[in-house]
Amino acid sequence: MPELPEVETLCRQLKTILTGEEILRIEIIDSRLEKAEELAGRRVEAVKRRGKFLQILISGGLTAEIHLRMSGRLFWQKGGVPRLGQADASNKGEALTGSGGITTIPPVLAYSRLLIVFPAGTLVLIDPRRFATFTVKATENTPTLVEDALGGLSARRLQEIARTRRLPVKSFLMDQRLIAGIGNIYACEILFAAGVDPRRPSADLTPVEWRKVVKMSVAILERAVACRGTTVSDWRDLFGCSGTNQDHLAVYARKGEICLRCGGRIERIVQGGRGTWFCPACQH
Ligand SMILES: [Zn+2]
Repeated sequence: MPELPEVETLCRQLKTILTGEEILRIEIIDSRLEKAEELAGRRVEAVKRRGKFLQILISGGLTAEIHLRMSGRLFWQKGGVPRLGQADASNKGEALTGSGGITTIPPVLAYSRLLIVFPAGTLVLIDPRRFATFTVKATENTPTLVEDALGGLSARRLQEIARTRRLPVKSFLMDQRLIAGIGNIYACEILFAAGVDPRRPSADLTPVEWRKVVKMSVAILERAVACRGTTVSDWRDLFGCSGTNQDHLAVYARKGEICLRCGGRIERIVQGGRGTWFCPACQH
C-alpha cells in the first residue's frame, strides 16, 4: 500500500512531467469512476500532495484528486496509450496527436481504470482491486489537511491530541484522521529509531519522547522519499521503477533477525490486525 513517501515520489515526478501541459482527453475505463470530460483542453497548473492524496490543479479552478488506496498505481506511458501486448517503444500514439478527431482508444494495460492523455504521453491509473479513487472538484472546495507527517509536525500538538487517547502509540501514528501519511512500514521504523515501544499508550509518552518521534518521522520519511519509496511487494514509481528504501529498513519484516543497534532479536506482534516489528531491548 503506498504510504506518504511513495505518494510524495509520484507527486514530484508528476510535477516535473505535467506542469503546464494541456490535457488532450480523459478516458474513463472503469465506470465506477466519475466522468471528467470537462478537464479536456485545460492545463495542469500544479501537482500537490495532501496526505496520501495526489492533487492535480487544473486551469479554470478545478482539482483532480487521486487516492491509490490498497493497490492503485500510476504509470506514465511516454508518447502514447499503452496497448495490451504491445508495450514496445515504437508505439508513438499517432492517433492521439491528431487534430481533435481522435478515435476509440484500444484496450490498454491490464487493470487500467483511467487514462489522462497529454501531448507527450498518457497517465494511466492501474488498480486490480478497484479501490483507488479519482474525483474532480472546484479547487476552492478541496479540503485542507490537519497534520501532514512531512508538513511540519509539532511534538507539542501531537502530545495534546494524544493526551486523551488510550490507543497504542503505533496505532496513533497510523491513524489517518490524526496524522496523514504514516502507514505500517514507516510507523515501525519511526518507533524503532525513536526507541519507543509500539505498545505504549500514546497518552503516556513524555514531551522528550514526542520530540524524538517527530524528529525520527521526518528523518525516516525524508530518506524514503530520497529513495523513491520502499518496494517490499509491488510498489513502483511513475516510470515502473522500484524504490530503494527497503535496503534501509531496520525492523520491518525482520522477525528473528539481529537488531542492528543492540544485537538482540527483532520480534513481531500483531496490533490492530497489522504486524508490528520491534526490538524489545531497544524500545521502551
Ligand atoms: Zn535492539
